[in-house]
Amino acid sequence: MKTVRDLNVHGLVVFVRCDFNVPLKDGAIRDDNRIVAALPTIKDLVSKGARVVLMSHLGKVDHKDPAKCEQDKKKNNMAPVARRLSELLGQDVIFCEATRGEVLANTVHALKDGEVMLMQNTRYEKGESKNDASLASEWAALADAFVMDAFGSAHRAHASTYGIPEVLNGQGKQVAIGYLVEKEVNALKRVVDVHDDARPYVAILGGFKVSDKIKVIERLIEKCDKVLIGGAMAYTFSKALGHNIGNSPYEADQLDFARSCYERANGKIVLPVDCVVANNFDNPTDIRTTEDSNIPDGYMGMDVGPKTVELYVQEISKAKTLFWNGPVGVFEREEFVAGTVAVCKACAELKDAFTCIGGGDSAAAVKQFGYKDNFSHVSTGGGASLEMIENDGHLPGIDVIGD
Ligand code: ADP
Ligand code: MG
Repeated sequence: MKTVRDLNVHGLVVFVRCDFNVPLKDGAIRDDNRIVAALPTIKDLVSKGARVVLMSHLGKVDHKDPAKCEQDKKKNNMAPVARRLSELLGQDVIFCEATRGEVLANTVHALKDGEVMLMQNTRYEKGESKNDASLASEWAALADAFVMDAFGSAHRAHASTYGIPEVLNGQGKQVAIGYLVEKEVNALKRVVDVHDDARPYVAILGGFKVSDKIKVIERLIEKCDKVLIGGAMAYTFSKALGHNIGNSPYEADQLDFARSCYERANGKIVLPVDCVVANNFDNPTDIRTTEDSNIPDGYMGMDVGPKTVELYVQEISKAKTLFWNGPVGVFEREEFVAGTVAVCKACAELKDAFTCIGGGDSAAAVKQFGYKDNFSHVSTGGGASLEMIENDGHLPGIDVIGD
């Protein structure tokens, strides 16, 4: 794949699609990880004397309801990102309020070699999420080259992720992936195509809903040697197999899927054999651990129990390749962190194994518990990393770049 390393961009306008979808609170950036992750590509282009135009979406903008639209735009204004980026880069970042039209064109044309500009939130444009052809053409007309470095958005074929490179490719202009996307693709490849010498391949799947992750589950039972299922998702499987799950959340419309999936997996799926349960989700007054996979009426599962942890640890300790998506318990609450922490620890103790995390909450969990550096790779893209596995290594925003 062509990367930013291979580009000749001195004096050229290079549009770079970044993932600056950072968490904001009252206009302040709560976590600048995603901005930091984009720096290698930006610095490289600056040092080559390119005229760098950065673009990203931030949050969601509702274009159906005019009042909500204005409110969303205010909330998801990109200006704080420009300020933080400028501090991190140690150079001015020109912030362009316009997302199309004359102001945008003039600002781009006024750029000098090595200067950096950030465009306002791409989702201010209604056509962005629809990959509107006229929007993509207008943006592409301003660009001499394009770099895709928004891994977290690569699963979406939008105007800024797909439309621009498609147009530029057709015109024979330079398009490439950035350093962040390169790193993500190289890491995720290792959990998509796993050779015999990198086995056993163990996956841990948790989180809330089965329905969000059907395709991933399907793929992982094909690819893996063991799939450990925890989190709220496990209760749908448990119920499908005829266990009592008390008041635990489950998805009635996924019971057939869970049953058939379990059967097809032919012993690969490992379900919890005990649970930490509570009598109430928000204000539990009674927390206990069950003897087996059955949860008594009036209680709901909140975390995996100690016997399950033992079982998980046994499987994890054999792994040469490991993929983890989804916390195995309600890790945001101190009473229910034990399962997720134990999984972190077991993964951290692996030697000579490739360990990879995909998923926003899972990444937050390993960071919160201090295990981030023990993993070979923690993906910056939640949905994108899962889709990469679902689609056998393919994502529209990366495939469009071509070879
Ligand atoms: P990721 O973002 O890593 O893909 P998900 O979004 O699928 O993960 O799931 C994370 C959420 O699942 C967390 O908020 C966590 O509290 C919740 N969760 C995990 N186990 C349970 C459980 N037993 N009951 C309710 N929620 C749970
Ligand atoms: Mg999540």
